[in-house]
Amino acid sequence: MTKAPGFDTLQIHAGARPDPATGARQTPIYQTTAYVFRDADHAAALFNLQEVGFIYSRLTNPTVAVLQERLATLEGGVGAVCCSSGHAAQIMALFPLMGPGCNIVSSTRLYGGTVTQFSQTIRRFGWSARFVDTEDLAAVEAAIDADTRAVFCESIANPGGYVTDIPALAAIADRHGIPLIVDNTSATPWLCRPIEMGATLVVHSLTKYLTGNGTVTGGAIVDSGKFDWSASDKFPSLSQPEPAYHGLKFHETFGNLAFTFHGIAVGLRDLGMTLNPQAAHYTLMGIETLSLRMERHVENARKVSEWLENHPAVEAVTYAGLPSSPWHDRVKALYPRGAGALFTVALKGGYDACVKLVDGLELFSHVANLGDTRSLIIHSASTTHRQLSPEQQVAAGAAPNVVRLSIGTEDPQDLIADLSQALEKAST
Ligand SMILES: *Cc1c(COP(=O)(O)O)cnc(C)c1O
Repeated sequence: MTKAPGFDTLQIHAGARPDPATGARQTPIYQTTAYVFRDADHAAALFNLQEVGFIYSRLTNPTVAVLQERLATLEGGVGAVCCSSGHAAQIMALFPLMGPGCNIVSSTRLYGGTVTQFSQTIRRFGWSARFVDTEDLAAVEAAIDADTRAVFCESIANPGGYVTDIPALAAIADRHGIPLIVDNTSATPWLCRPIEMGATLVVHSLTKYLTGNGTVTGGAIVDSGKFDWSASDKFPSLSQPEPAYHGLKFHETFGNLAFTFHGIAVGLRDLGMTLNPQAAHYTLMGIETLSLRMERHVENARKVSEWLENHPAVEAVTYAGLPSSPWHDRVKALYPRGAGALFTVALKGGYDACVKLVDGLELFSHVANLGDTRSLIIHSASTTHRQLSPEQQVAAGAAPNVVRLSIGTEDPQDLIADLSQALEKAST
């Protein structure tokens, strides 16, 4: 092919080729822990990272490698590291950048589990997070100090229907010589390509739209390959001799693949948050239909959110795809294919009405997940965002009178009919 293939082609073919041993057309599940070395020299070369190949599946696996290449291609990065969950991906993304005393500046508008991971758990490593409202660019800039090693945000922020101005945050991170990390889980590379807007690293939960049917827990980090890790002394694991890998200088040795190689050779090797080949296989199959599903997800979200906005029991719908959203113009400019399929609905009947709605629905499933072909609902304040303070709940778009919907790919009339009957029960 002379012209670069389009997204619909790449989501099926990138990274994959007929199996060299058998000709198998679909990527086989390489259910193996170890790989036979050709000889002692081959083994030594692999361990020295002088030759790229397979050693042990905690580090690399051929099925996982296909997924890594496909994700890197779809996001426009140079490499990717898959890992065991979206939360593992966040730790794996920060690990090469951080040391005790270092901080990240993070958006307040995050997946509930990420707020807890950043505000509590990473402190055990001596890391910390400073939360700022990313609409206030001066506050973002003011929060960055000499110990800041990254700015972190979500592209389409879960659960509140907020879309981030990625180019503005990238410009700030750039000015301070630190990477911007974007969690692109809710948007997927079909709706948003953060690297094209200046992000250094993209993290994903494969658990959601990428697999798309609620069968997998997995994560990934995609590296843009564009950051100069040696421009300052802030990133010694990448720019200086890495003691965890016999003094190898990753940036000098691997150039724009430094982060990816470090993620595998040190991150996966020592933290062990590995994706298994079965999960990679399911995710590869899911990604084959990503653009088709996302188009339907967005179309259904638009129809259902418009209907809900006009319902008398509803106080507000925060879907960035609605003309009433304060982010409507930003969606048009930065996310022209749509604002995803996640949004929240505030009910006039408050907490009690939310609980009744959740219990009254028949087609929607009440689960702590999103990004499934099935439509899902959750009352965030009593579940996923329960660990947060009331102020944090409101900041995250998960106030007590709010339910979060993840709109699936079913027939939209059926979704509306289900919501209609359950809202009727909820208002009595
Ligand atoms: C689900 C999710 C995560 C965490 O991913 P897991 O695979 O559940 O660990 C992180 N960020 C966002 C935006 C998510 O939706």
